[in-house]
Amino acid sequence: MQFSGKSAVVTGSTSGIGLAIAKALSTDGASVMLNGIEEPGAAADVVAEVAAAGGAAKYTRADVSKPEEIQNLVKATTDAFGGPHILVNNAGIQYVAPIEEFPEAKWNAIIAINLSAAFHSIKAALPAMRSAGFGRIINIASAHSLRASPNKSAYVTAKHGLAGLTKTIALETARENITVNAISPGYVWTPLVEEQIPDYAKSNDLTEEEAKHEILDKQASKEFATVEQIAALAAFLVSDAAEQITGANYPVDGGWTAQ
Ligand code: NAD
Repeated sequence: MQFSGKSAVVTGSTSGIGLAIAKALSTDGASVMLNGIEEPGAAADVVAEVAAAGGAAKYTRADVSKPEEIQNLVKATTDAFGGPHILVNNAGIQYVAPIEEFPEAKWNAIIAINLSAAFHSIKAALPAMRSAGFGRIINIASAHSLRASPNKSAYVTAKHGLAGLTKTIALETARENITVNAISPGYVWTPLVEEQIPDYAKSNDLTEEEAKHEILDKQASKEFATVEQIAALAAFLVSDAAEQITGANYPVDGGWTAQ
């Protein structure tokens, strides 16, 4: 139980990558604050699932596009478990359209949720990390923090920004036993990817099966990564063995960004 006595907040952890990270941290003994936009009743099953992995778990509903709700989420974590010692900025959304058809509301939501939320959560969580003399911040970016694809202007912009924020805060905290790193998955089979398939198929005049195949074309391995693989890297970055890793951006993308 290497993370016993540590508390973690994982944004967007009711499904997909965030849920897998929450489970991995709980397995190692961390107390985990789960988050999403679902009402608490709808999150009861995931709270039970994460608590069953080993650590304590609670849920706070907070829309991370709203700075005051992020501040409440961090405060709820402190009130429940102390800390936070670990912050995982994972909540993210996607929208795919050429720029002339890209709705302004979607642009604003993607920048708010995928980028600005990390600024606000880091700002809110750092004082507790500084006073504990320990902090681990992990930003879930994307292969799109390193490469672009057409029709994803907001997502690619937000994820490139998140990579820059990661490096900047790593330098600001480098002498304080606080590390700040990004994980950049390629395609991972989660609801977020599943929901992109119909749009991708429509914009490229493909069947959904062809769209799935074409999406994987970027990934040299031709396979989706799993949420457990992302979670294992996140747990490593929290461990003492990773103390000297800061400001890094790790691709988990089956060779996509090697090309
Ligand atoms: P997902 O759709 O399965 O889960 C997203 C989570 O974010 C859910 O818990 C949802 O409730 C939450 N969420 C959405 N809007 C929110 C908001 N406004 N406030 C708080 N929570 C909110 O997604 P996923 O595929 O697990 O993606 C997680 C992260 O990984 C995202 O940042 C995504 O960009 C990134 N990522 C995913 C892939 C992939 O292939 N799945 C690849 C690269 C990067």
